[in-house]
Formats: sequence, C-alpha cells, structure tokens
Amino acid sequence: MRTITHFIDGASAPHPGRTSDVFHPSTGQVQAQVELADLDLLNRAIASAKAAQPAWAAMNPQRRSRIMFNFRSLIEANMQELAELLASEHGKVVSDAKGDVQRGLDVVEFACGIPQLLKGEYTEGAGPGIDVYSMRQPLGVAAGITPFNFPAMIPLWMMAPAIACGNAFILKPSERDPSVPVRLAELMIEAGLPKGVLNVVHGDKMVVDGILDHPDIKAVSFVGSSDIAQYVYGRGASNGKRMQCMGGAKNHGIVMPDADIDQAVADILGAAYGSAGERCMALPVVVPVGDQTAEVLRGKLIEGIETLRVGISTDDEAHYGPVISAQHKARIENYIQMAVDEGSELVVDGRGFSLQGYEEGYFLAPTLLDKVTPQMKSYQEEIFGPVLQIMRAQTLEEAVGYATDHQYGNGVAIFTRNGNAARQFAASVEVGMVGINVPIPVPVSYHSFGGWKRSGFGDLDQYGMDGIRFYTRTKKVTQRWPSGGSVIDQSFVIPTMQ
Ligand code: NAD
Repeated sequence: MRTITHFIDGASAPHPGRTSDVFHPSTGQVQAQVELADLDLLNRAIASAKAAQPAWAAMNPQRRSRIMFNFRSLIEANMQELAELLASEHGKVVSDAKGDVQRGLDVVEFACGIPQLLKGEYTEGAGPGIDVYSMRQPLGVAAGITPFNFPAMIPLWMMAPAIACGNAFILKPSERDPSVPVRLAELMIEAGLPKGVLNVVHGDKMVVDGILDHPDIKAVSFVGSSDIAQYVYGRGASNGKRMQCMGGAKNHGIVMPDADIDQAVADILGAAYGSAGERCMALPVVVPVGDQTAEVLRGKLIEGIETLRVGISTDDEAHYGPVISAQHKARIENYIQMAVDEGSELVVDGRGFSLQGYEEGYFLAPTLLDKVTPQMKSYQEEIFGPVLQIMRAQTLEEAVGYATDHQYGNGVAIFTRNGNAARQFAASVEVGMVGINVPIPVPVSYHSFGGWKRSGFGDLDQYGMDGIRFYTRTKKVTQRWPSGGSVIDQSFVIPTMQ
C-alpha cells in the first residue's frame, strides 16, 4: 500500500509511527496511508524552515517572482495529473477538481506580482530635512492548516503569498486528502524554490497544537470548521502569533419575485449540489420572497434535481461525486432526519442512494427540504452535504434578516433584476461575501476572501492585499541626514514636525 510521507528540506521525509487511512470515496476502499507526525518531526521541519528563510528573504523580490512564475507554469503543465489525484482522494469530479487547482493557480499568479505588491510608502520632507518611509518585511516562518474540501486551492491561497513575501512556510494539510499538497511542494522545488522554504507536515491535533505553541512560528493561517477555527485562533493568539482562522458557513440564496427564475434555478442547483455540497461557499439555503416565488422555485428545483447525475469522480457526465467519508455521509443523513423530525417537509430524499458497481462508495443523491424555519437546529448548523433547504420569506427585509441573524456569515447571494434592491441588500446584509446574481461569490485573487461572524476569526482575509499584509510586517523609518551645520537641537518634549 502507498505511504504518503512528509516533505522536509526539499525531499520526502519518511517518519514511521502513527498513520491514518486515506480512502477512495468512490469505492470506499483504503488507497493509501498517511504518516502522522510527532513533535520531533515537526521540530525538524520548523528548524529546516528557520534555517532556509533568511537567504530566501534576502533574495530580491524579482528573483522570487521568477520562481513563482516557474511554479505557475508547472502547475499548468501538471493540471490533469493534479486534478485526477485530487479527485481520487476527495471524491469531487475531475472537472471540478481542475477548478480547485485553477482557483489556487489564480493566487499563484497574483503572487507573481510580488515586487509591486511589496513596495512601501515614502514621504519626502515630512519635516525639515526629514523623510519617512515604510517597508514590508517577512515575518520569518509561517504555517498553514487546511481542510479537506479544497486540497489544492486553500494550500495555494496560503503558501503562494507567504513564500513570495519572503517567509518560509510549514503546511499542515488535511490528513484525509494529503497527496496534492505534497505534489505541489515537489513542484515548488522543481520551480527553483530553495530547500526548506516549504515543508509539508501531516498530522492531526497533536501537530496543530505543536504549531500553535512553537515560538519560531510567527503566524498561522487556518481554514476548517468553526469550533476548531475558534480554538486554533485562541491558542495561537494567546501565544502571541498573528492569526487568521476561517470557519464554517451556511450561505443563503435570496430569490426575489422579479428574478430570472430559470437562471436562478440553474445557479442554485450548481451551488447547492456541486462538489456534493462540500464547499464553504455552497448555497445550502434558498430563501424565496413571496409565496408565488416559493411555489414556482420549488417546482423548478424538483424538475432540476431529476436531471442531476451522481457518479464516481472520473465520470465525465456526473454533476457531483461521493462525500469525503462514511462518517460524514452518516452525519449528513442524521441532519436530514433531524430536519424531518423538526418539522421540515422532505420534498426529495437523497438517502438510500446506491451507485451500481460502487455500492461501498459514499454517495448521497440530492435532498430538498421545504418549510424550514430559523428555530430548527438543522438550519442553524452547517450540514456540508448535498442538501438544500427552502426557507420562505414574505419580504426582502425578512430574507436579509435570516442571513444577518445566522451564526455564520461567509457568503450570500441575491437573485433579482432590481438594481436598487440589490444595492441595498449588499450594503445592509451582515455577511462577508455577497453575490448579486452570482451564486458562489468567491472574490478573484486580487481581492480578498473572508467571512464574518463565526465564519472568520481574525482581522485579515485570505489572499489579495490582505494576504500580503498578513504575511508581512511594516517597518516605519524616519530619517534625517546631517547637513554639516554646527547648531545642536535638543528637546525634551515629544518631537513635532514643524
Ligand atoms: P476540520 O475543522 O475538521 O479540519 C481542518 C483542519 O484542522 C485539518 O487540517 C485537521 O487536521 C485539523 N483539525 C481537525 N481537528 C482538530 C482539532 N481537534 N484540533 C486541531 N486541529 C484539528 O475541517 P474539514 O472537515 O477538513 O473541512 C470542512 C470545514 O471547513 C467546513 O466547516 C467548511 O465550511 C470549512 N471551510 C471553510 C472555508 C472558509 O474559507 N471559511 C473554506 C473551506 C472549508
């Protein structure tokens, strides 16, 4: 059986000890074992990163940028292989896996502009003969802890800006689909990255805690579920680290009576069921405004669901594949039952689905629930599966209130032809990322990604300028050069620029 090892100092770093099974979600079979690090191994990785970082930071930004350009080309050249490897461990269909890699590649392209992005500010003549300037300097060693659902995109969100800024980086990917992150690290070395600047350490809570407590790690970026994000944020921050921790989501799609309903239904089907609903920017709640909108929408969603095809990850015709694990499948099924017990109407039941020839795979057909109310636990919590809940509202204000009052505030979308309503919606809803007739409003790489409330802990978002700010600290320099005069200034009051 294949063993997935750590990657330290530019090479595979086997470290026998505890392991975890990596499954093939389409078949339910174990396909590999990933080694789980202990603290000795983690310390080795951090020491390697710390030793490599000063020379990397000293390399001028344009040369660092050339390595990012090489990396970009290598990802593109290996796109098919990366997507197939990703799909085999995650379960998403290969075309969707390519989107996962591509969204990460976008951030690598952004990081290629690092010489421009790192430019500081300069004020000539801030006082008599005095100039002030600021520069952005790397932090040292940073770390990233990533979830299973985007095993290419999210590691790239973090490592591309962190490394381009001149940091060394420790990546702790999800132990459930760890192969693509290792492959990306290999490609970075092939691109010319000095050994040790990027190390990949596999593991579970023990390694995460080790990262959060290690004094040589200066910043930690985390993406995963909210309870763990909050824990990671608190522990890292109390150890004096810079932290950004993205959590779970329950995104609402509001459908106004004037929406292009057929387009909205197509968008909602893709956003609710694509990737088996395992996206933090999925749309698992739809809020039709008005009874008539609700009836029309419900009818069209039922028709649309009938056309969806669930298949193995290599099935080109499939709309989505299996969920990540048997436990997660059972958890989703429990939420469906909970929704029924709480009084939701089960319009389409996706449980009990079996794919011929793949009876052991973790498949679920689409589920549609109607008459959902805010008091229901199945609405309040993240299900993270192919389950769409209809929550009816009578007014736009009521619909906005649902999204605003929810514990999560990652993404939200409105479907309408009314520009004024959309504008007011975008201004008032308490959610971090808003789509106007865009179902999955993931900002492009030169903006930043981040949710509000329990979807994000910390001040700075992922990638874009926030990513550059997160992985650098600014130094502010005030300078005065002697003019050769003989008068000595002496003052005991706070200096002012007169
Ligand atoms: P998860 O929280 O289980 O795991 C995330 C990471 O934390 C993994 O690397 C895991 O090894 C580690 N971890 C797990 N348990 C831990 C513990 N007790 N202590 C310390 N570390 C621990 O998340 P997941 O199931 O891999 O991913 C799905 C979740 O991620 C969903 O909630 C989804 O909404 C969220 N997510 C959020 C975003 C976002 O940007 N807001 C993006 C993608 C996914």
